[in-house]
Amino acid sequence: MIEQEPIGGWPRIDPLRAGVTGRCPRCGKGHIFAGFLRMRDSCEVCGLDYAFADPADGPAFFVLCFACVPSVILTLWIELHFNPPFWVHLVTSLPFLLATCLLPLRPLKGWLVASQYYFKARQGQLAPRDEP
Ligand SMILES: [Zn+2]
Repeated sequence: MIEQEPIGGWPRIDPLRAGVTGRCPRCGKGHIFAGFLRMRDSCEVCGLDYAFADPADGPAFFVLCFACVPSVILTLWIELHFNPPFWVHLVTSLPFLLATCLLPLRPLKGWLVASQYYFKARQGQLAPRDEP
């Protein structure tokens, strides 16, 4: 856990804890999400504008890298070990695949958004040159 001094009167909230629970990264009380993955425009408690939040494909990338691999391994293991009829995959592999892909998306997106706020991640800009 990262502990730092409060900034602007708001306590520093651990981005992992705030993001995984879907809480506002500034106050820790408001909500980030308005739906399953749709973000709110701002925090209903402190008014933090979530326009800075742009995790892009980050959550999907992590899910693809870490959650889909066990699903593919399970599916291949069932197929090669038992050689079952196709419907067995519909009741075993498909629910496992959906669970491992969908369930981590929201906590991952929340963590990435909270981390953007915590570490003040911004779009890169060219620094102005100092004129002599
Ligand atoms: Zn807030």
